[in-house]
Amino acid sequence: MALVNENFLNLSSNYLFADIAKKVKAFKAEHAEADIISLGIGDVTQPLCPAVIEALHRAADEMGIAASFRGYGPEQGYDFLRDAIVNHDFRAHGIDINIDEIFVNDGAKSDTGNFQELLHVGNIIAVTDPVYPVYVDSNMMAGRRIVKLPCSAENNFVPDLPKQPVDVIYLCYPNNPTGTALTHKELYKWVNYAIDNNALILYDAAYEAYIQSDKTPHSIYEIPGAKHCAVEFHSFSKTAGFTGVRCGYTVVPKEVTVTTLACEHVALNPLWNRRQCTKFNGTSYLSQRAAEAIYTKDGRQQVQQTIDYYMHNASLMRQTLQGLGLKVWGGEDAPYLWLQTPKSLTSWEFFGQLLEKANVVCTPGVGFGECGEGFVRLTAFGTREKTEEALERLKAYISTL
Ligand SMILES: *Cc1c(COP(=O)(O)O)cnc(C)c1O
Repeated sequence: MALVNENFLNLSSNYLFADIAKKVKAFKAEHAEADIISLGIGDVTQPLCPAVIEALHRAADEMGIAASFRGYGPEQGYDFLRDAIVNHDFRAHGIDINIDEIFVNDGAKSDTGNFQELLHVGNIIAVTDPVYPVYVDSNMMAGRRIVKLPCSAENNFVPDLPKQPVDVIYLCYPNNPTGTALTHKELYKWVNYAIDNNALILYDAAYEAYIQSDKTPHSIYEIPGAKHCAVEFHSFSKTAGFTGVRCGYTVVPKEVTVTTLACEHVALNPLWNRRQCTKFNGTSYLSQRAAEAIYTKDGRQQVQQTIDYYMHNASLMRQTLQGLGLKVWGGEDAPYLWLQTPKSLTSWEFFGQLLEKANVVCTPGVGFGECGEGFVRLTAFGTREKTEEALERLKAYISTL
């Protein structure tokens, strides 16, 4: 008799984006003429930059010639990409990371979801509330207990250290969904907590490229001691529009260990290597050549232009919302803004009114956790024209409240 993994039956039905799509569709059915603008999507809209497109063409041509054809690549990723990552993302900033500490993947979602496989089922997992749902659901599937670290206007959406002992902590900064960032000082506190408590930090740096402030660390390894207690996830999805290309990487330093029940230290780097070699056959050669191109002189410039474009949207959004007297977080080091709904409307009430009266779509904050109730997430990934138009409509709607 084949028994089910009953942990799957305990998952909360995560229909957030399906629910949003359903409501938008119903509205469209009744208002065919409405020109709906979405500030709800968590996907980029600008095309891949020329340096990446050229690299993709070159790689495709190589694949068509016997002499340069590539089959299975290394499970850890090609050295040309791992080298570029080490040099540009770490050594250029004074961080000593080695090539064999970099594991190239097909996007950060896979590894942020899979990494928990290396950890004991009895570990207590801490996540922020609101949160990117992958951390919660992947641990639920394995049957682990999860503790929420509440984030609210009171703590400026920066969580306090856990009040009860926890073993593994997921941090995502700059944050999705709140758009808030941690300063060096704040991140230092977490690294110290992890070292003092033999805890492991799983640090999601997917939005690192959007950081504008010098006070915000780009990598947890900027903090002394972090190589002993943290694994870091990167993605080219938001950095360079790779949501459809698929490529990212995970950093597992040689120093980072966890313990056996007999209190022996076990290094995670060889375990992750073993796991990847068993379950993963590498990221496509084309994606890796495309990612390599991001690190060329032209590539870096072109990618930065797109990020600047989105961050200009974010800054327009922030100014407009604040000008309307609304309370808003994020949008300074991240392409997300976290808006407190006016008149104490619930997340879904505000979503409904904004759709109805302004024909603008947002993402209800409560969809990311209980603490998100009374907030919505807005994204800066739209075009300039649509973003400006959406802000005009939002202004008109707010003036009627
Ligand atoms: C978008 C995103 C990722 C990246 O996912 P990919 O699989 O690389 O596309 C990772 N973490 C968070 C929090 C994200 O929002």
